[in-house]
Amino acid sequence: MVKSLAFFQGKVVPIDQAKVSVMTHALHYGSAVFEGIRGNWNKKKNSMYIFRMKEHYERLIQGCKMMMMDIPYGVDELCDITIDLIKQSGIKEDVYIRPLVYKSEEMVANLVLHKLSSDFTLIIVPFGAYIDTDGAIECCTSSWRRMDDTIIPPRVKISGHYVNSILAKTEAVLSGFDEAILLNQDGNVSEGSGENLFLIYNGVLNTPLVSDNNLTGITRDCAIKIAQNEFGLKVVERSIRRSELYLADEVFLTGTAAHITPVGSLDNRLIGNGNVGSITKNIREIYLKSIRGDNEDYQEWLTEVKV
Ligand code: PMP
Repeated sequence: MVKSLAFFQGKVVPIDQAKVSVMTHALHYGSAVFEGIRGNWNKKKNSMYIFRMKEHYERLIQGCKMMMMDIPYGVDELCDITIDLIKQSGIKEDVYIRPLVYKSEEMVANLVLHKLSSDFTLIIVPFGAYIDTDGAIECCTSSWRRMDDTIIPPRVKISGHYVNSILAKTEAVLSGFDEAILLNQDGNVSEGSGENLFLIYNGVLNTPLVSDNNLTGITRDCAIKIAQNEFGLKVVERSIRRSELYLADEVFLTGTAAHITPVGSLDNRLIGNGNVGSITKNIREIYLKSIRGDNEDYQEWLTEVKV
């Protein structure tokens, strides 16, 4: 039987008992750090494969350092808590794993990080496609700019930072697009609202520097490794201007939720012929096999859990 459980205040509880006070600091100020991890169910193997769990928890711990949050768990313990929660939940489908470290102090008018208590919680929910990944999506350049490292550090997943993503995605969707591409304050391409970005021109992959204010994406790293190892492609990390995207042969987005999503148009201009490009298709095929335990070559990215 599947149970809806959460890890909350140091123990596993039914999810409806995992509740915080309206006085909680993080609720008012976004003073929290989170991760999004996928668990991919393989029916044939009767196993759940958690994708790059260690790297996600390493990034979470980096965020905790920036936000001065102490939790009594290291990466290995966080991995164990996650595996245990999946087993106890008995869930046998694709899941989204959401760890959250938050300023739990019940003290509202206090604009500091130090001296305030922090807590860790974890939930696991069923999760299918985030964006329709079969076809190529339609994007627009957002009127919102990606937040600069001088405002809120964008390289880790700080909750308050996501207001920026939410403003951009809402504007895009209400205007009839699937996703927003954000520029940074210098006008360089940064990333999607929840995805990193790649541009392919003359067979070379280009992706913005992390210093152009994007998240240090784990799927981004997978796409780079697959492009280099499987197809011998050159990958260049550099600043990219908006107009380069209009003239690209292919553009794709990468993210835990979005997987590898081809972009067919930007600001009503077709990218390539508007369909899924061949390099994007090849990289995506290998990626989708790897995350589900169907590719021997990338087993080191997976943690197998027998539910
Ligand atoms: N950028 C942002 C703003 C995101 O929220 C995400 C999703 N975590 C990504 C990029 C992609 O990162 P990852 O591949 O590690 O999921």
